[in-house]
Amino acid sequence: MLWHCESAWLGGEESTADVLLDVQDGTIVSVTTGAACPAGASRLRGLVLPGPVNAHSHAFHRALRGRTHRTGGDFWSWRRLMYDVSARLDPDNYRALAKATFAEMSLAGITCVGEFHYVHHQRGGRPYEDPNEMGWAVTEAAAAVGIRLTLLDVCYLQADVDGSALTPEQQRFSDGSVDGWLERVTAIPRGPLVRVGAAPHSVRAVPEPDLAVIAEWTRTYSQPLHIHVSEQPAENAACLAATGRTPTQLLADAGVLTLMTTVVHATHVTAEDTALLGRAPTTVCLCPTTERDLADGVGSAVGFAAAGSPLCVGSDSQAVIDMFEELRAIELDERLVTGRRGLLAPASLLAAGTAAGATALGWGRHGLVAGARADFIAIDLDSVRLAGTQRADATGHVVYAASASDVTDVVVAGRRIVEGGEHLLVDDVGGHLARAIAAVS
Ligand SMILES: [Zn+2]
Repeated sequence: MLWHCESAWLGGEESTADVLLDVQDGTIVSVTTGAACPAGASRLRGLVLPGPVNAHSHAFHRALRGRTHRTGGDFWSWRRLMYDVSARLDPDNYRALAKATFAEMSLAGITCVGEFHYVHHQRGGRPYEDPNEMGWAVTEAAAAVGIRLTLLDVCYLQADVDGSALTPEQQRFSDGSVDGWLERVTAIPRGPLVRVGAAPHSVRAVPEPDLAVIAEWTRTYSQPLHIHVSEQPAENAACLAATGRTPTQLLADAGVLTLMTTVVHATHVTAEDTALLGRAPTTVCLCPTTERDLADGVGSAVGFAAAGSPLCVGSDSQAVIDMFEELRAIELDERLVTGRRGLLAPASLLAAGTAAGATALGWGRHGLVAGARADFIAIDLDSVRLAGTQRADATGHVVYAASASDVTDVVVAGRRIVEGGEHLLVDDVGGHLARAIAAVS
């Protein structure tokens, strides 16, 4: 199948006119520039980008959007509200909420999501008849929407780094032991649009010897490994008190920091931590719209990049779902902190939102290049936000002014799932969201 792009981003700061993509079996087999639109080709107007990748998501947090702003508080008081929602999840309402949230993501142009999945068992911790029933709910939701998924299956064994026992709300996150987690996670089926990764939740939730076991498993089976790190100063303080080391140092000692690892947030790290992350290099996943929503702080994106760590982004708590907002926030937050502009070029930010995320989620080659998976989106350059875009500044205009609602078309594995801003597989995404959120509220 041939796709003709009025213009496309092929790397660099400029866009390229008249790009023809030849797609076969879900893969781009050739890219031709300066090509006329042949008869029978599908036309994509505006600017075509490689598929945005949302590398860190908790789909059910979508139910909390807008509901946590009246009473103030901090990350930890927000977490209590989140636990209230997690306690109400069952396979059916979870599937419906994940489907609606993934549908919102695909309307926003996200072609691939890394779902950091930790609600595994029934309230109190008893497994469902199929211990992966909740994981099935996530994979079925992604399939119904047509989005590519890496199920980052969470290991969660203790309440804090000092080994304290799980709270009642956390019981359903736990498999009881790392062996219990391994047994369950190896039974999760993979598919053409589904991969699995390991997600030890954090140094709070997984003891150091078990982190080493999980790291060894991911090396043996070439799976990605994702872990929350230093989102809050309290995690650092508890880790220092219990072990005398920062969370990042503990992960380095446990053999967790490798090329296949992604640390999420890394908001409060030391210069030594940043150097340890860059050495592997380990990828850093920033979630700026969540980090500002939860008053976490600002991670040093420029510092991570200078140390050698690739950057990617995630919508995390779903405070908003807009990849352009995530990407520009990386640079704009740095501007507020440093008083300087232009620290990360727009093209590097787009790379963070596309290829780096795909690599972090274990999907490899990604972009408008031969051999890459045929995941791409079209953006309306005639929208009120993007009218007047010049080819020489296309990336700057898109990164700093586009919004999720400028996405017109979304193609995943060569299949169009969004056309003209409408989802082709899910009618009335807003209605699905409203019903799914009401069911867990
Ligand atoms: Zn998270």
